[in-house]
Amino acid sequence: MMEFVQARVHNPDDYKAPESPRVMAAVDVELILEPTTTAATAAPSSSSHRPSLPGWNFARPLNNATPPEDAATNEHQLKTLEKARTMIKTVWSRMPNIEQKSAAGTEKGYRVLRERDGCVSVNIIGHPLCVAEATFDVHFVDTWTTDIVLRAKDLGTGLLPLMAMLREPDLIADYLPHPAGLPFIEGLDIDKTFHENDWMYHCFVSPFGPLPGADDLHAITLFDLMDEPEGAIVLYAESPKEGAKEHRGWPIPKVTSWRRQRNFVLGATTVIKPSSARPVSLDPPSSKPAKCASPGCRFHANPALSIGGGLHCCLKCKEKGPKHAAPAYCQKREFPDDNIKWSLAEHGCIDVELAVTIKFPIPTWLIPLAFVRWVAVKIIKLYYPYLVLLNERFDETPFAQRVEADKDGFYARLGQQLKDAKRSFARTRENGDPAFVFKK
Ligand SMILES: [Zn+2]
Ligand SMILES: [Zn+2]
Repeated sequence: MMEFVQARVHNPDDYKAPESPRVMAAVDVELILEPTTTAATAAPSSSSHRPSLPGWNFARPLNNATPPEDAATNEHQLKTLEKARTMIKTVWSRMPNIEQKSAAGTEKGYRVLRERDGCVSVNIIGHPLCVAEATFDVHFVDTWTTDIVLRAKDLGTGLLPLMAMLREPDLIADYLPHPAGLPFIEGLDIDKTFHENDWMYHCFVSPFGPLPGADDLHAITLFDLMDEPEGAIVLYAESPKEGAKEHRGWPIPKVTSWRRQRNFVLGATTVIKPSSARPVSLDPPSSKPAKCASPGCRFHANPALSIGGGLHCCLKCKEKGPKHAAPAYCQKREFPDDNIKWSLAEHGCIDVELAVTIKFPIPTWLIPLAFVRWVAVKIIKLYYPYLVLLNERFDETPFAQRVEADKDGFYARLGQQLKDAKRSFARTRENGDPAFVFKK
């Protein structure tokens, strides 16, 4: 059975951080002190129905109703939260205003909205059977600074598979494809945990085009702003300062390969909100997958609807006869197979906005805009089907095994926080508001 966690509907404008946290507190206090609250139940306690906390208001570290006990960690996280809000605002304030136009119905599945004056903007449909649409904006701010914004509406990854990728990053390199001629993740892991919502990623990306391979470090902090105006889970990432030898007492590993350089993320904010869209816009055509509908094909229809549309073993077989797609896409099991069941995307959709300010190791004028657009379209079209597939086949992946084992209780706590009916966002929700699906 699915469980829904609901959130208030927010305007896209809410992504912009409030002017001052104090103003927000004043607004939200009214929300939380409703007349039904008696003096006894309103007493401060560890309960989720808690008063606003100094500096935090109604924000909290992800997975925790209370701020970090250690004063230095608490201060660091509050500063980080402020950075997260400021950086996304800064990126938007210097991004040129570009008229939006959907890529739906375009022949190639994308629409270039701008490709001049140091700015690329493109809308991309990531999969023919999904409603999700991504908008990718790249803006060269100066010789060394680039802003990148990726907005995905109705992303079919779902919350739990996305959180599993964040929490188990060492599984990503094996799950995603390694295409020739495009950048891909060669290795990704958590090198250091400073606090339960506060980690250091170490990320290796393949060399490609004019860019050398990457050996990057990114500190990431995860926040739960469900009760704040954002109504979202918010992540903030930043690389340790260029030239720094240590980060919060942790010695920074040096770049060891001559083929690698370190990129410096000056700030990256990710805002994750619930969406009520369906990841794949199809229903199973029968109780279980039947024979592939392509004449002459001896395989059965793929149990993941996003791959064969419910009727074919893969979309290639549908279009070109028994000429099959890459192994991950085509399930070449011979028909009949009585045990076959549909693999349905049960983890819902999310809306994601990611804003990054980055310093690449080469000057921006060396990077052609047409190349940036080409890469953006290729990458989104290549990776998005794998993200939808992760939702459809989640239970069969090693990610699900890690979620099941839940070594340090990360997923249990996340579920607890998001399903807490006493929280302000849960109590103020209205019928029909988008809701996070968190099925664990
Ligand atoms: Zn077929
Ligand atoms: Zn096939």
